[in-house]
Amino acid sequence: PDRPMPTIELAGRRVPVLGQGTWYMGDVPSRSASEIAALRAGIELGMTLIDTAEMYGSGRSERLVGEAIRGRRDEVYLVSKVLPGNGTHRGTLRACEESLRRLGTDHLDLYLLHWEGPYPLEETFGAFEELRAQGKIGAWGVSNFDRASTSEATAAARSSTGSGAAPRQDRPATNQVLFNLQRRWPQGGLLDDLRAAGIPLMAYSPIEQGALARGGRRGAALTAVARRHGATEAQVALAWVISHPGVFAIPKAASVAHVRENAAAAHLRLTDEDHAELDAAFPPPPGDAPLELI
Ligand code: NDP
Repeated sequence: PDRPMPTIELAGRRVPVLGQGTWYMGDVPSRSASEIAALRAGIELGMTLIDTAEMYGSGRSERLVGEAIRGRRDEVYLVSKVLPGNGTHRGTLRACEESLRRLGTDHLDLYLLHWEGPYPLEETFGAFEELRAQGKIGAWGVSNFDRASTSEATAAARSSTGSGAAPRQDRPATNQVLFNLQRRWPQGGLLDDLRAAGIPLMAYSPIEQGALARGGRRGAALTAVARRHGATEAQVALAWVISHPGVFAIPKAASVAHVRENAAAAHLRLTDEDHAELDAAFPPPPGDAPLELI
């Protein structure tokens, strides 16, 4: 609370380097109150970006997020995703309406294509542009796109038909992908491509779904670095992800205690020694690396 949350630029807005994921939230009714309290505490601590998707619990996550942000929509940068199977023009417009209804809002700040599907990118992006022109979304982007798909997406952005009212986005606002100490594949080229294109990378599962909080496959190094800073393994994992320029992350936490810990990680500065020790335990990809996803 004392120090402001650092931010990164995303499609002309400032968003926190640490936001909040919500996969599996709303699935277990007895946990909902704790999940809502965690999201609200996160907003107080500056983790105002909230990531959800129509897929998560078939709408349960969006409904829970809607409840968590009721009365404070304007404090939040709200992100949701359309399923690839809904990626036709009409399907995208309809899916967005349904997400907005579940979330109890009239606009998303960012709308993502969850992964590449069967429909031409131009068609989905054309629908995104229409939603933007209508003020129903502020920006759009992609998720789980590898290097080739990301460059196709940028080409498609330039050729998709906007409806004219608002200036068109000439590239995806972000590419949300799996990136953490154990999943360094974006460093095999994608991250450089995104930086060159001026597209920030939104890192999902930054704690490897909790595994890195327990040390992960090479726990000793993570624990050693954490001890030096009086931090936890989860905090080092998060600090490592956002130490990369052009990268921000969306850890999911269902308790206020975890949220506090994660927010504090935004201020943890890893040293060259820390990076060397982590690189030895969690080596970067040797060269071009294929897409990894969860
Ligand atoms: P994370 O890497 O964020 O890990 C979440 C797990 O870590 C939970 O079990 C949580 O426990 C635990 N955790 C969180 N903070 C701490 C802490 N400080 N100490 C110990 N344990 C902690 O995994 P996710 O897969 O949830 O990824 C984050 C978000 O990214 C998702 O929720 C979703 O919004 C998005 N995502 C997007 C995907 C895509 O295809 N675009 C795919 C996967 C995720 P607890 O819940 O008990 O606090």
